[in-house]
Amino acid sequence: MRIDVLTIFPEYLAPLDLSLVGKARSVGLLDVRVHDLRSWTTDRHRTVDDTPFGGGAGMVMRPDVWGSALDDVLGLGRAGDAEAAPDGVAPAHLLIPTPSGTPFDQRTAEALAGEGHLVIACGRYEGIDARVAEHYRQVGAEHGGVSVTEFSLGDYVLNGGEVAALVLIEAVARLLPGVVGNPDSLVEESHGSSGLLEYGVYTKPPTWRGREVPDVLLSGHHARIERWRRDESLRRTAERRPEILERADPAELDAADRDLLSSWGWDVGADGLRRPRVTEGDPSPR
Ligand code: SAM
Repeated sequence: MRIDVLTIFPEYLAPLDLSLVGKARSVGLLDVRVHDLRSWTTDRHRTVDDTPFGGGAGMVMRPDVWGSALDDVLGLGRAGDAEAAPDGVAPAHLLIPTPSGTPFDQRTAEALAGEGHLVIACGRYEGIDARVAEHYRQVGAEHGGVSVTEFSLGDYVLNGGEVAALVLIEAVARLLPGVVGNPDSLVEESHGSSGLLEYGVYTKPPTWRGREVPDVLLSGHHARIERWRRDESLRRTAERRPEILERADPAELDAADRDLLSSWGWDVGADGLRRPRVTEGDPSPR
């Protein structure tokens, strides 16, 4: 997979040399290229921003600078006239971090892990002129060669898109074959195929500051361990993220899951799950 990141702070992406992502890069599983947006400026001051039309605080990133940079990195040539991608250029996915984008989640990471070329455009100031996303969306719709997704890390505002780029790259890269040493460790994680949160995990020593590891995990009884972990996943999800359970497909629940959820007051019907009404002073589903 190739990932291009465009930013006015290339140094911000230095952590991509570390840990599993750094290793994936060094062995050629992942080709990450970080570009300084200012390389595409044409004035002496290397200006990338200007005042907002309509007035107001802050500065907006200029579409002409972004357009030159993205045309080059996306391999679209001078796409100011919405030209098609040249033949033989693999379609790229332009990802624009913004608090007003679609929430980024594990399903998005999985979908992106199946693609060949991602381009991340990191905004700063009040963000990138809105015509940039519109333009490349139109180019993609009319001529192919690029798709565009504006994505958000969550309902808060960061200073720039670099952290969002780091998050996206790490979430996607660890799903690429060969990046995580033992691929089994990806299977039962939070937000995996079951959609549930992961159960609590424990290691040595078996007693720490008076706290014991649950007996069942020391029993060596695989079926009982599996059932305990499933129960813990359900319990954590019900307690911490009940909205995830409410979106779950009831057909994915076995009889023990249903009994457990019912014992916590959940309504488990064929058409979905509904959390119990919280009575004052008892927010726990237990
Ligand atoms: N004025 C923008 C707004 O209110 O939506 C916020 C701009 S923010 C200060 C500057 C840049 O940080 C954005 O262009 C985006 O690249 C990034 N950013 C900030 N919050 C983000 C979030 N929650 N998710 C993804 N990117 C974010």
